[in-house]
Amino acid sequence: MDTICLDFINSEFRDFRGRWVRDDLQQPGWLEQFLVKWGLQIDRPPEAATLTTLVALRALLRSMIEAMVEEQITDHDRTALNAVLLKMPLSRRLVKDTARYRLEMVPLKQDWDWVQAEIAASFAHLLAYQDPRRLKICANTNCRGVFYDESKSRTKRYCTPDKCANLLKARRFRASHKNNL
Ligand SMILES: [Zn+2]
Repeated sequence: MDTICLDFINSEFRDFRGRWVRDDLQQPGWLEQFLVKWGLQIDRPPEAATLTTLVALRALLRSMIEAMVEEQITDHDRTALNAVLLKMPLSRRLVKDTARYRLEMVPLKQDWDWVQAEIAASFAHLLAYQDPRRLKICANTNCRGVFYDESKSRTKRYCTPDKCANLLKARRFRASHKNNL
C-alpha cells in the first residue's frame, strides 16, 4: 500500500545489508519530489526548524508502530499525534465536477504545518479505517523498513521479497551449512 505516512517514515532508509543509512529528508530535492508525488505543493522550502519538526514527526510515527507491534500505542503518543493533526484546521467545500459533486476538505493555509498534518492524518486514517495489525516492521534488523502487509494470511515479515527476505534466507542457509560441517 502506498500511503504518504509510510513513504515519509521510510525516508530514513537503511541498506538491507546494513552497509549504510541514508536520511532522505536531508537529501537535496527529496522533499520537493515527495510533495509533488503527494500533491502537497508549497512555494517555500523548509527552514531548519521545519526540518527538525519533520524528523521528530517521523520518530513519533515509527515509535507508534514499534509500540503497536509490541503492545499498543501510549496515550502520550496519541496526544502527540493529535497535536500534529491540530496544526492545520480544515474547512469543507462542495465542489461540482462535470459528472458529480464532491465534498472537499480545504486547509486554511498550504504551508509546512499543512504537510505535517496531512502525514499525521494519513497515519491516523490507517489506524482507524485499515487493519493496524497489518502495519509491520521488516524482520531484517538491518533494514527495519515499515510496510503494510496486504497478504491474505497476514504473515509477511520482510518489506521486499527480493532483498530482505532473500538475504535472511541465504544467511540461514549458510548458518545451517556451517553447523553440519
Ligand atoms: Zn526490509
